[in-house]
Amino acid sequence: MPQLVMKFGGTSVAGVERIKSAAGRIKHEVDNGYDVIAVVSAMSGRTNMLSQEVESISPLFDAREYDVVVSSGEIQTAGLMALALQEIGVPARSWQGWQVPITTNSAYGAAHVIDIGTTLLNAKFTAGMRAAVVAGFQGVSPENRVSTLGRGGSDTSAVAIAAAFGVERCDIYTDVDGVYTADPRLVGKARKLDRLTYEEMLELASLGAKVLQARSVELAMRHHVRLCVRSSFNDADGTLICDEEEIMETNAVSGVAHSRDEAKVTLLSVADRPGIAAAVFGPLSQSLVNVDMIVQNISASGRTDLTFSCPVQQIRQAEQCLQNLKESGQVNFHSLALNTEVCKLSVVGIGMRSQSGVAARMFQALADYGINILVIATSEIKISVLVDRKFMELGVQALHDAFGLHEG
Ligand code: ADP
Ligand code: ASP
Ligand code: MG
Repeated sequence: MPQLVMKFGGTSVAGVERIKSAAGRIKHEVDNGYDVIAVVSAMSGRTNMLSQEVESISPLFDAREYDVVVSSGEIQTAGLMALALQEIGVPARSWQGWQVPITTNSAYGAAHVIDIGTTLLNAKFTAGMRAAVVAGFQGVSPENRVSTLGRGGSDTSAVAIAAAFGVERCDIYTDVDGVYTADPRLVGKARKLDRLTYEEMLELASLGAKVLQARSVELAMRHHVRLCVRSSFNDADGTLICDEEEIMETNAVSGVAHSRDEAKVTLLSVADRPGIAAAVFGPLSQSLVNVDMIVQNISASGRTDLTFSCPVQQIRQAEQCLQNLKESGQVNFHSLALNTEVCKLSVVGIGMRSQSGVAARMFQALADYGINILVIATSEIKISVLVDRKFMELGVQALHDAFGLHEG
């Protein structure tokens, strides 16, 4: 039988009625002649609740035990889904990460998939199982412990399984009917995209469009998995994430992404000498601070200001690390300026490679609304700016309008 991966996110399995309805979708594909590997998330809100419980007992928790606790949400859904399928006549069984097995590295809390065994599930399919319900977000580490793949990681479970089994398609069922030109929760006029390249989706996901976990897109691109984002609540055609060759026309900008919880750190009056960036960013990375945008001012007097952005949740780690560098005399700077009230707005499109003037249009659109740009970063297919968080919604809408992305 041909095989299909169907992944159901948290809202799509939030409660038994929704699980039953998702089971109906799986049965439909089984009736179409597919053996289905269904990858399920925890019910929406459950992973947040579990991680809050962990932190309420142990603020600086042991990541191994965090993984034990937060992986339980997916296990619950997998069992319920297998039961729902059995009730409607589909031979189904649930599988936890270790049972498949989905082997990961030991980076608990944000583990990478290393290998997925296909022998056991394929033998079960041969023996008559028609749906394997796999708990998403989890695997087993080399130390034989449960590991999780980072928030939103069920998308990555689904794509990794799709690649390992060489399935025909990987359908991601969620609470929107595809990938939109901007988050539809923020921009009412956002338009659904029929197709989008892996590169664009990877940028959008990395820049804050949480409709897919960025790592899942990276895997899909590497293994040429046909990835389709669609709704669990209607039958509309979804968005196909595919190679550039499969897309006829490209606009300069395909979509706008935003990332709300950013912080900006400036080292004021730091010595401008060779090795200074390495002396600052090396220790920051060892302190597990994910530095994103970086700007260094021109120096007139041998001293300069160095600014970077990072997730707002990591601001204390960053501050601590920089103060240590100052106190130990490794990096000499006058003081730190911290701003935890910023957000990042980005425009993404492969058309940017061949069309000029995108940056100018973006900056003008923000200027028209009096939005000040704090930091700019570009790559071949994206431009990102850091702005005050109070302008986030207005900024996304201004950019969406400026590039004519709305309906019609
Ligand atoms: P799931 O629980 O199914 O994994 P997520 O909440 O992780 O779902 O992702 C779906 C959400 O992603 C949508 O509800 C939407 O608000 C958000 N989103 C952000 N950017 C986009 C975009 N460009 N297109 C579609 N959805 C987006
Ligand atoms: N339940 C996990 C989370 O909320 C994984 C997922 O839903 O993709 O992050
Ligand atoms: Mg998700």
